[in-house]
Amino acid sequence: MRNFSVKVKITVWLTLLMALLAALLLAFTISISNAVASKSAKSQLSTVVRDNIAQVHMVQNRLDLGEEFDFYRNGVSTLVYSKNESLLAGRLPVSAFEKEAFQNGGMRMVSTQEEQYFVLDIWVPNGWESGVWLRGFIEAPGRFQTTRDLLFVSLVALPVFLALAALGSYRISKRAFRPLNSIIATAEAVNEAKDLSRRIGLPVGKDEFSRLAGTFDQLFERLERSFEAEQQFTADASHELRTPVSIIKGACEYARKYDETPEERQETISMIYRQTLKMYGIISQLLSMMRLDQGTEPLRKEPVNLGQFLNALCVDPAYDQKRLTLDVSEDMTALVYPELLSRLMRNLVENAFKYGKPGGHVWVSAYREKDEILLQVRDDGIGICADQQDKIWQRFYQVDSSRSGEGGVGLGLAMVRQIAKLHGGYMTLSSIPDAGSSFTFHLPAEQDDIN
Ligand code: ADP
Repeated sequence: MRNFSVKVKITVWLTLLMALLAALLLAFTISISNAVASKSAKSQLSTVVRDNIAQVHMVQNRLDLGEEFDFYRNGVSTLVYSKNESLLAGRLPVSAFEKEAFQNGGMRMVSTQEEQYFVLDIWVPNGWESGVWLRGFIEAPGRFQTTRDLLFVSLVALPVFLALAALGSYRISKRAFRPLNSIIATAEAVNEAKDLSRRIGLPVGKDEFSRLAGTFDQLFERLERSFEAEQQFTADASHELRTPVSIIKGACEYARKYDETPEERQETISMIYRQTLKMYGIISQLLSMMRLDQGTEPLRKEPVNLGQFLNALCVDPAYDQKRLTLDVSEDMTALVYPELLSRLMRNLVENAFKYGKPGGHVWVSAYREKDEILLQVRDDGIGICADQQDKIWQRFYQVDSSRSGEGGVGLGLAMVRQIAKLHGGYMTLSSIPDAGSSFTFHLPAEQDDIN
C-alpha cells in the first residue's frame, strides 16, 4: 500500500468503507424485513380468523356459516372442525395439520416438510356442551426467501454500486489533487531543468493547495532573484576586478624585477593602494547591491521626519557647508528605510559636489507634488549630455572616469535607482551640460506618507 498514490489509497479506503456499510445495512434490512413480514402475517391471520368467528352459527346443533365467512382471504385459510376434531368445512391443503393438536387462542408455527405456517385455533362454543373449532393458518414468510431475494438484489446491485463509488471517489480525489500535481510538476521542472522562471500560477484562494502554490511561487521568485543577483555579482566582480588586479600584478612584477628608487617604490605602493581602494569599493558596493537584490539585508521601514532627516544628513562636516543649501518647504513624515534613504541621498550629494564646478553650489530640497514627495539634489556643475542621461544608471557606467575620484567605480547611481525602487518610487534626471544637473527621487506619498 505504501507504493500507491494517495488517490488510490483514498479510493480503496472509501470503497472498503462503502462495502462494509452496505453489508451492515443489508444485514439490518434482512432482520427487520423478516420481523415485519412475520408480524404482518400473524396480524392477518388473527384478523381473518376473528372476523370469521362472527359468521359461525349453530342452528339446532347444525353448523351454519354466514355468507361473509371467508375460507380464504389475504393468504389466510380457515377451516372449521367439530368438537372431536373432524373437519366440517374448508379444504385442508396440507395433510400435516391433521395431526396438529388444537390449542385455543394459541398462535404458533407449524413446520411441514416444504413450508412453515402460522396456525391459530379458536374454540367457538355453542352452549355448555357443543361448539366448533376454527383453525386459521397462513404461510409464514419464508425465513430465507426474503434473505435470498435481498441477497440476490444485493449481489447484482452491490458490485455496480461499489464500482460507481470507487470510480466517483477516484475522480473526485484526482480532481482535488490536480493542483498538487501541478505544484509537483513545476517544482520538478525548476529542479531538473534549472528553469527558475517557471511558476505554478494557481488562482489565489483560501484552500491549502492555493496557499501552498502561492508560497512555492514566492519561493521560486526568491530563488530566481537570488540566483540572478549571484550571477550578476560574479559577472560584475570578475569583470571589474580584472583591471585593478592586473595593474597591481604588473606593478609587483616590475618591482620584483627592477631595483626601484625609493621614490619609485613609494609611487608603486601608492598606486597599489589606490587600486586596492578601488577594489574594496567595488566589492563592498556589489555586496550591498546583491543583498538588496536578494532581499537578505535586514530592513525595516520607519516613519521619518524628512526635514530633520535631511538636516542631519547635510550638516556632515565632509560637505562644504558654504556651498550647500537645504530647503524643506513643509513638515513631512514618510515611511522609509532610513539607512537606505541616507545611502541614496549621500550618493546624490557626493556626486553633486564631485561633478560640480569649482566653487559651485548644491541644493537639497524636499517638497510635495500631487501624490508624491520629491527629494531633490541639484547642482550647477558640468551636467550630463542628453545621450548619456540614460546610461549613467547602468552598473559601472562612467561618463569620465578621471573625474570620479578614488573609490568611484560607477555603481553609485545604479544603487540609487535600486533603493528608489525598493521604496516603490523612481528616479528622474534633468541636466544641461555646463549648466548643472538635478536628480529627483519620487516617493509615493499615498502609502508612505503618514501625515
Ligand atoms: P561614480 O560617481 O562612481 O562614477 P555613479 O554611478 O555615481 O558612479 O555615477 C555614474 C556617472 O554619472 C558618473 O561617472 C558621472 O559621469 C555621472 N554623474 C553622476 N552624477 C553627476 C552629476 N551630479 N553631474 C554630472 N555627472 C554626474
